[in-house]
Amino acid sequence: MLKTNYRRVLKLIPLNVKLITVSKFKPVEDIMTLYSLGQRDFGENRVQEFLEKFEILPIDIRWHFIGTLQTNKVKYLVNKTYLIHSLNSLPLAKEIEKCFSKLNSIAQVLIQINIGKDHNKSGISTENIYEFIQELALYPHIKVLGFMTILPIVDIASTVILYKEMKSLYERYRALQSEGKLPSNINISELSMGMSDDFVEALENGATMVRVGSKIFGQRN
Ligand SMILES: *Cc1c(COP(=O)(O)O)cnc(C)c1O
Repeated sequence: MLKTNYRRVLKLIPLNVKLITVSKFKPVEDIMTLYSLGQRDFGENRVQEFLEKFEILPIDIRWHFIGTLQTNKVKYLVNKTYLIHSLNSLPLAKEIEKCFSKLNSIAQVLIQINIGKDHNKSGISTENIYEFIQELALYPHIKVLGFMTILPIVDIASTVILYKEMKSLYERYRALQSEGKLPSNINISELSMGMSDDFVEALENGATMVRVGSKIFGQRN
């Protein structure tokens, strides 16, 4: 079933888009099943679980950290994650800078945007993005590759509206970048949005990375 689900989803993903298979709560055997089919990008949202999997799984897996990251856990991710999707505050940026610079490493990150203005979801609100990005110039061991969002649970019509807002934000910041108005450690190229129930809509609105879990691995208990 896992292989069939994976192939079914993969077929819907354009070649220039990265499918991140979200393996949280799922066993390493399932990850290896997809690995054997060529999948290399996996998403995890809890540091402890990620570390356990990282230790025993192949070194060429690209690990995407997609969960809320507490500052006291950043140190465990250095030289282990390919991309941290959830940069959502300056204190977190400061800690990432500190931990990664210590090991002479660069953290690739996405800025998490709170597009739905959801009080339960974290992220930078749209009106603060520009200022936030300018502050990141202070952190040379952080390289921003783009934006990520997690939507509040809403109907699909509202989802599409929010994805369109993300797309226009992404395009606006790419334009600012090409005008030389963003710090040199900012390179807006990725837009991470879309999960099992709405990744098709995300793709239609310019997602360059989609994060799909249950539609491939089955429900999490
Ligand atoms: C769990 C999770 C996903 C995948 O969710 P599904 O609905 O199972 O596809 C995607 N992104 C984030 C941030 C997650 O925590």
